[in-house]
Amino acid sequence: MIGRLLSYVCQKVPSLLPRVSLMMKPQVVFVLGGPGAGKGTQCSKIVQEYAYTHLSAGDLLREEKAREGSECGQLIGSYIKEGKIVPVEITISLLQKAMEETMEKDEKMFRFLIDGFPRNENNLQGWNKVMDGNADVKFVLFFDCSTEDCIQRCLERGKNSERTDDNRESLEKRIQTYQQSTRPIIEQYEQHGKVRTVDASCNVDEVFASVKAIFDKEG
Ligand code: UDP
Ligand code: MG
Repeated sequence: MIGRLLSYVCQKVPSLLPRVSLMMKPQVVFVLGGPGAGKGTQCSKIVQEYAYTHLSAGDLLREEKAREGSECGQLIGSYIKEGKIVPVEITISLLQKAMEETMEKDEKMFRFLIDGFPRNENNLQGWNKVMDGNADVKFVLFFDCSTEDCIQRCLERGKNSERTDDNRESLEKRIQTYQQSTRPIIEQYEQHGKVRTVDASCNVDEVFASVKAIFDKEG
C-alpha cells in the first residue's frame, strides 16, 4: 500500500524520486567467522541468488591500502600484516562510502553482507555510534570452523594469493585476534538472539545449503 502510494507520488512529482530513494535504510547482515572460515566464498554465492551486495571490510581496506595518494595506506598495511584491527573510523568510512555508492546506482540494492566486520569492541562501538538508526542489522551470519581447518585453508590460499597475511606468522596473530576480540562480539549478538550459526567445516556446497536455508527463511 505504502509502496504504491510512494510510486504514485514519485510519478507525479519526479523531483521527489532521489529523496525517496535516499530514505531507504540499508539492511545489513554481518558475516563473521575465523580467518579462512569461508566468509568470502559463501558471500559470493549468496549474491548470486539473493539481492545482496557483498562488502568485505578486508577487501575495502586492501583496496584503500593500494590506492595511490591514500593517506592511511601505510597504516592499513602494517595493521593487516600484524593481524591487528584497523581503527574503526577508517573502516566505517570505507563501508559507508561503498553502501552509498551501491544505493545511488540502484536504489533496490539496499541489502548488504558486511563480511569480516565488526571484529572487536572498537568496531562495534564505532558502528553503533555512526550507523545506529541509519542501518538495520538483521542478523549475524556466523561461520563456525575449527582453528585447525582455518589455518589449513589460509595456508592453502596463501600458496596462490597476493595477500601479505596468509603466512603462518601473520595467521597466528590473526587467529589470536579473532579469539580474543571477535568471539566476544559474536557472543554479544548471541545474547540478543541475533546469531545464525552455520557449520563451516564441510565442503562449499554443503555449507551453502545451510546458508540458503537461513536466507530463504529470513531474506
Ligand atoms: N581488517 C580490519 N578491520 C576489518 C576487517 C579487516 O582491520 O573490519 C584487517 C585485519 O588486519 C584482518 C585483515 O584486515 O586481519 C584481513 O581481513 P579479512 O576479512 O580479509 O580476512 P579473512 O578473515 O577473510 O581471512
Ligand atoms: Mg575474507
